[in-house]
Amino acid sequence: EAARHENTTIRAYKDGEDEAYLERLNLLEELREAMKHDSGELFMVYQPKLNLDNGKIEKVESLIRWIKPDGQFVSPELFIHLAEQSGLIIKLTQWVIDTVLKQQQEWLTENIRLKVAINISAQDIAHADFIDYIFEKISQYKIDPKLITLEITERDIMTNEDLVVSRLKQLKQTGIQISVDDYGIGQSSLGKLKQLPIDELKIDKAFILELDKSEKDQFIVKSTIELSHKLGISVVAEGVENKASLDMLAEMKCNHVQGYFISRPIKSADLLTWLNTYE
Ligand code: C2E
Ligand code: MG
Ligand code: MG
Ligand code: MG
Repeated sequence: EAARHENTTIRAYKDGEDEAYLERLNLLEELREAMKHDSGELFMVYQPKLNLDNGKIEKVESLIRWIKPDGQFVSPELFIHLAEQSGLIIKLTQWVIDTVLKQQQEWLTENIRLKVAINISAQDIAHADFIDYIFEKISQYKIDPKLITLEITERDIMTNEDLVVSRLKQLKQTGIQISVDDYGIGQSSLGKLKQLPIDELKIDKAFILELDKSEKDQFIVKSTIELSHKLGISVVAEGVENKASLDMLAEMKCNHVQGYFISRPIKSADLLTWLNTYE
């Protein structure tokens, strides 16, 4: 009796697993279709990074959005993860690069010289054609490489460190800026920073969301900023949601802040209006 009961439990569990598996497979297929037909389901939004040294917005981060025809929002955390697991990320990142650089070219014709950050995965940078692809697009859209930043997470750098670091070095030599995303929640030591060919470090929002209330977060953030500056690396704090945290970050000489307190990510069509009204 007990054994039979156990059996059913296992069966039920496995059926649940299959269902989740099929759901993921289905989602991937829908993502592939959305990319193929460029139906407008996939689009980029842009979140400003405020320069605390001069009060200006000179950079934005591009973030992908997927809204299905029935209006359903799919979280990027979810579908980026699926794309990474299935290898589809290579094509998806190419779509992102094409879309962002085309947008950047449009802004340039309107005399808006914004630096734009693009999120990339370890697999993208490990892929043999990545650098060629990005330079093909740079010349197609006539973008100054200095206006492009690639954000790669600390965790992704560490998954394939030697290859990733050598690719990052190559990219940096071309003028493209390199930013370490989600810094502080990965496994690397602070000493690692001196070996990485990076321009910018983004402190993970886990340390920023409650910065105004947590003395421990304040210690961590302050020392990370000081160390980065000694190494010649610029610092961005992500997840700034209130004025108290922003003021503290200014006090700590953080270079840029990004978060809902400054702006949520916005559609390209609304960005110029936002920039014009932001004081
Ligand atoms: P990320 O690159 O670390 O991006 C920051 C995330 O924090 C974004 O979530 C952003 O909307 C959110 N955020 C910004 N300000 C605040 C704030 O003040 N409070 C809080 N709670 N959150 C804030 P999003 O857009 O959902 O993206 C999640 C992650 O998905 C990104 O983390 C990135 O890892 C990935 N992702 C997004 N777009 C792309 C893309 O185009 N390519 C790749 N490879 N990954 C992407
Ligand atoms: Mg990012
Ligand atoms: Mg991040
Ligand atoms: Mg993240």
